[in-house]
This record gives sequence, C-alpha cells and structure tokens, in this order.
Amino acid sequence: MISSEGSNAELRLRIYAEPGEEFNSKNLKVKTEVVMKNPHVKVEKMGLPVGVKPWEPTLDALRNDSRPFTDTKDLTLHLYTLPFPKGEQGDGGGGLTECLISDVLKHKILSVPGYGARVPKPAGTTYRVSEAAGKGLGVFATRDIQMGELIMAERPLMITPVVMPSRCTSELQGLSHNDFVQVKLHDAEKIFEWVVDRMTPENREALMALTNSHSLEGGGPIIGRVKTNGFGESEIVDGPGAECQYSVLCDALSRLNHSCSPNTFRKWCGASFSMQMRAARDIKKDEEITTHYVDILHPAKGRKGQLAVYAVKCTCVVCANPEISDPIRAKCLQHLQQIERQDWQRDFDVPTSTNPKPLLGNLDMYVKSGVETTDVYGYCLFMLMKMYAARGDIPTMRVYSEKYARWQSARTGLVIPQELIDKGFGMISVAEMVLRMKGKMKGKAKKI
Ligand SMILES: [Zn+2]
Repeated sequence: MISSEGSNAELRLRIYAEPGEEFNSKNLKVKTEVVMKNPHVKVEKMGLPVGVKPWEPTLDALRNDSRPFTDTKDLTLHLYTLPFPKGEQGDGGGGLTECLISDVLKHKILSVPGYGARVPKPAGTTYRVSEAAGKGLGVFATRDIQMGELIMAERPLMITPVVMPSRCTSELQGLSHNDFVQVKLHDAEKIFEWVVDRMTPENREALMALTNSHSLEGGGPIIGRVKTNGFGESEIVDGPGAECQYSVLCDALSRLNHSCSPNTFRKWCGASFSMQMRAARDIKKDEEITTHYVDILHPAKGRKGQLAVYAVKCTCVVCANPEISDPIRAKCLQHLQQIERQDWQRDFDVPTSTNPKPLLGNLDMYVKSGVETTDVYGYCLFMLMKMYAARGDIPTMRVYSEKYARWQSARTGLVIPQELIDKGFGMISVAEMVLRMKGKMKGKAKKI
C-alpha cells in the first residue's frame, strides 16, 4: 500500500460540451478546473442519491489508441495502452499499463530517450508477500539485500487522473455536500470501469486482489483500491505547472507498508516505463521492506494525522518515542534545509574543515533514526569521503565513496562505474597531493 503527495490533488477535471453543442462523444471535452482538495471523505451510502439520474456519457472519444500521432498541446484525456498499443511490439517485457492520460503526457512519456527498454530484473528473488503482524499483508526480504540493490521493478497496472472526470457540476446544484460527493464517487467509478475493462485478465485480477481501505466510505471497489494503493509520481504529470496530477497503481509495489524509517527508495524509470524500488540501506533476510506514505521528517503527531487518511496506525519505534525521535527529526529537517541551498553533489572542492567527528556524530544519529532516504544521509557520506581525501586517508575515503555510490544508485537508479568509486569521484587526486606534501614534509624534517 503506497501513497504520496500526489494523492492530495488540487485540481479537478470537468467533462463538458461547448454551449449549444449536444453532450455526445463527438463534442465531449475534458478540462482541468477549479482548485480543490481531492476529498478523502466518507459518505453514508454507496450509489446515487435519490432523484439523481445515472450518468450515461458516451466516451468513445476517449478510446483513441489508433490515433497516428499525439498532439503535444492537447490536455483532453484519452484511453491508451502503454508502453505500446496492444498488438504492436508486444509489451516490451513487463506487461501492459492502461492509462487515462492527456496527449501532453503521452507525448512526454514516448519522448523519453531509450523508451521501450525492457523492465530490469533484480538479481534472483528478493522478496515475498506475506502476513505482516497487525498490518495485513506486507513485503519481506527473502535474502540479505545490499544498499543500492534493485528489489523490484514493475510496470504499473494503470495510470489515471487523481480526480476523475465526472458530470458537469451545474447538474448538481442544490445537492447537499454528502449527495454531491456521492455523485462524484459514482461517476468516477464508472470511468474507472472503462479503464479496468481494457485490462488483461491477469492485471484485472491483480488489481482486485489489492487492499481496499476505503470500502466503507461510499466509493466503489475500484476507486477504493486506487485511493488505498495509488501514488503520485513527479514525472507522470502533464508538464511544467502540473496541469493534471495522476495516480500510478502497481501490483507488488503497492503491497509495501509504511514505515517512518523506510528502507527503500522508489524511482520511476521512463525508458522502461516502470516503477523501481531499491534498498536505501542494507536489509537483512526476513526484514520487512517498507516505504513511506508521508514525510518522515514531520513530527509524530503530524504523521499520525496524515497516516489516518490511509487508515494506517503506525506503531513503529519512532512513533512510539516522539520525545526522542521528534528532536532528531527536527534537527535532520534543519540540516536538510541548509544543504538544499547548496549544490553539494557537484562540489568537489577541498572541505574547509577536515575534522570528521561532527559529521560522524550526525551520521550515527541519522542511521539510528532510520532517515537514510533523506538527502542529509547522502550528504554526510559525501562530505566524509571528501574529508578523508583531504586528510590523505585513501582507504577510509574509499569506504565512504563506496557507501555514497550505493546510496546514489538507490536514489537515482544510475549505475556508477567502479573506477569512479575507487577514485573517490575524483577526490583521489586531492588525497595523493596531500600524501606527497606529507612525504616532502617528512623528508625535510629528516634533513633538518
Ligand atoms: Zn511510525
């Protein structure tokens, strides 16, 4: 079960016909509309309120796989099967994704360099899905996994707008808020059914096997599963300004439970059109593999409120001891804000201080608190690599260079050449210069 910032949409879509035009498939248009929060609201009943007519839009206009080109400016939503239309070039390895997306987004997806690459496979079996005490199902490591290793890579089951099209709001004037929400949920489920109808039987089965934490909130079975398991992805947006936000729904990846000390990074790979999960620290066999649904640097009380939206009551050690964890997280956040203003990952200058003690203290604190998925952890590794280079200590420089490389691979999915790691990302020249200077100084001392 995964969620993220994308779940709280601030835009909604309107399905409409121009004034004077009949509301049919030819005239149908969908546009982003008023800014509002995506309602994680409960309504008492499922289905339509008494007196409200069923919504029967003809959505043939959305079936557009056969269109020969994509209009790079068209924000109208269409149904597509990706990575390639059915029957064309297969699925490129990794399965098919049903999408309700704009042409703008489709064009963006198809324009990624190397698009159509195969979905990478982890080395051997890395996980199993089984009962997690008090949390339903969870994902567990079947062997020791090293920081940076690929744990899973998966093509999404579907990609849909966070706020689904629904009937024109003017039809709903005079309805109570409860009835209004009920109609919106009903209409959204109808469109979801269109998307699900296009799925392969295996994908449909996988979707319906996912947890639905919202079954008592008045929405249908598909919307409930999407709300429970879908997550936002910064690269799956209409473009600069993110005119439309989308929900990405996966299978096994959606089974990961939340932790306030998560041990994985999630990364979208545009070339293979897949979501990938890598280890953010070393993971032991049988350890639960986790992600985060909310910002782990928020205080425990804030996280509790945000997690309630996903029906999650976190009982982790970080949440159980806020008097200890909150000050550490606050310090981590402060540190993060300081380094966010720096281009530290490209700064290979010799550090002004070569005393590693304060950084080693911070690193120890961050490891104990389990915040390896935040940039401050990588920053400490990077700075320690530079400091030990500046001290002429090549073996210790390499220890941090190796860790930093693994952390960067986990975070970005990039493979860093071993030669670059051995050379401390170029810092070895500093270390060698320091050693030469030390050698000369020793030589001078001898002469005296
Ligand atoms: Zn927690």
